[in-house]
Amino acid sequence: MTTDWKEVEKKYYMQVVRRQPIVIVRGEGTRVWDDAGKEYLDFTGGWAVVNVGHANPVVAEAIAKQAKALLQTSNQFYTIPQLELARILVDNSCMDRIFIANSGAEANEGMIKLARKYGITKKNGAHEIITMDHSFHGRTLVTMAASGKPLDSFLPAPMGFKVVEYNNLDAIKRATTEKTAAVMMEPVQGEGGVNVPSKEYMKAVRKWCTDNGMLLIFDEVQSGIGRLGTLFGYQAFDVEPDAMSLAKGLGGGAPIGAFLTKEFCNVLAPGDHGSTFGGNPLASAAAYAAVKYAIDNNVPANAVKMGERLRAGLGKLKTKHSFIKEVRGVGLLNAVEFNIEISAATLTAANGLGLLLNAPRPNIVRWMPPLTVNAAEVDKAVGLFEKAIVEGAKTATAKK
Ligand code: PLP
Repeated sequence: MTTDWKEVEKKYYMQVVRRQPIVIVRGEGTRVWDDAGKEYLDFTGGWAVVNVGHANPVVAEAIAKQAKALLQTSNQFYTIPQLELARILVDNSCMDRIFIANSGAEANEGMIKLARKYGITKKNGAHEIITMDHSFHGRTLVTMAASGKPLDSFLPAPMGFKVVEYNNLDAIKRATTEKTAAVMMEPVQGEGGVNVPSKEYMKAVRKWCTDNGMLLIFDEVQSGIGRLGTLFGYQAFDVEPDAMSLAKGLGGGAPIGAFLTKEFCNVLAPGDHGSTFGGNPLASAAAYAAVKYAIDNNVPANAVKMGERLRAGLGKLKTKHSFIKEVRGVGLLNAVEFNIEISAATLTAANGLGLLLNAPRPNIVRWMPPLTVNAAEVDKAVGLFEKAIVEGAKTATAKK
């Protein structure tokens, strides 16, 4: 049987994702290794997931211990890891209650249900949710509709979303009617290319929602758990949402999601929501260990420091290379935007040099390393990136 895993994927897996030609077999901290033993600096952070580092020993130990004790029962019973996780997240946030799910999309589905039920039961049947263009909330039908993604091949499309321009209060005002239940947004848009809204906008949206009896709900799937340099993304903007979703960094690498709410909009009742695996002991034990590690070791503060260092390094490259249009980001969610479409060629060159990056757009490269990254790793990555963009620009120009 072949062990050419790229061929196995081509033959057996649904061809829905474009992969880089690397088979990753091991990770530690900021580094990963492929099946040929080659080492890479992972500035994709497992898609902004391994915030406390690949194979974090505290998370690994918690998983091993829990696996030997209890993998699964059901939400028909109480389990301790689920409740430890619930308590640490509620006690450290502005929220009062939590529901634990299995992924970001699923957490958002639950949060959307909460917002709709709030509008329907407390705001005269209001059910519409205003969402943002270039947002990304997941791959289920409802979260795709919320993201404003074309659903032509998957009709009929779920209704009830009005997609407006991000970072534009007037657009929200114009879309608001008596039918509006909530405004939903990412504190910083990740998949959309790392779009950072202004603090004034965020505060004004908060006020608009409060004044009009609408919920403000944050998708913190990518920006939560330290990514923006604060434990939760809302803290980076001094604005409290009424509900928020989490996933990605929550499990330290284990698949898990959650949504949290304030008490006044805690409208979901028995039978309204549920999950077989949601809050499962294994995923919860991993997440509790990851969140506790992030808090105990002040991991968000490292994201602030390393984020500044990264943007300073990338900023220097911008002064040298005119094809870099902008360097932007908050904490360790950052992007370099080019004037030309060289992301794909840059990623290929970076792979060869031992640096993993992500390209959400043909002209944008995103940086989302583990938040435990150190200064030497940041500096090395910036150095390799410069070589990669020079190579990438050459390849892209040659192709024209
Ligand atoms: N929301 C945001 C902001 C995301 O970045 C993502 C994934 O990239 C999701 C939701 C979907 O999460 P998942 O892939 O775990 O369903």
